[in-house]
Amino acid sequence: MHTAFIALGSNLDEPETKVRRGIAALAELPQSRLAAASSLYRSAPVGYADQADFVNAVAQLSTALLPQDLLAALLGIEKRFGRERSFRDAPRTLDLDLLLYDARCIAEPGLTVPHPRMHRRAFVLAPLVEIAPTCIIPGIGPAVDWLERCADQAVVRIGAQ
Ligand code: ADP
Ligand code: MG
Repeated sequence: MHTAFIALGSNLDEPETKVRRGIAALAELPQSRLAAASSLYRSAPVGYADQADFVNAVAQLSTALLPQDLLAALLGIEKRFGRERSFRDAPRTLDLDLLLYDARCIAEPGLTVPHPRMHRRAFVLAPLVEIAPTCIIPGIGPAVDWLERCADQAVVRIGAQ
């Protein structure tokens, strides 16, 4: 089995419910087991700012799915949740990002792991460090160090799911 970390984010239509249901959908993936799920967090939008706050979480999966198959499954869940890609950084129903897959570095068309922006986003790092405090981002460094560097980004834990 492989260890994968997945970031969830939503800021449309009851985002807390969306993220909780997203975690439940991850737990239902084939050849996979939900190993851990963080609390839910609230964060201000990045990029296009004129939209609602996001709700974020990170889940840890034990999975036999290969990275490309896991990504395809994540995009399938996003689609099921009715995501519409209107414009970059637009409001979204449910966003799922593959953050880490074991200690691998992957650069393939349509799939970059570690997720290239994860170490600069407190809304990813805070829930990640909650469930994996000693996590090292391959080629980047300890997640906890990068979280300290994101101290200017407001991320609030809004409680257990
Ligand atoms: P972001 O989540 O960074 O704001 P999007 O969700 O709009 O961006 O981007 C989705 C696209 O990014 C997908 O079509 C997918 O092919 C590509 N992608 C590349 N690497 C990853 C990854 N590690 N996790 C999720 N999507 C990825
Ligand atoms: Mg995404």
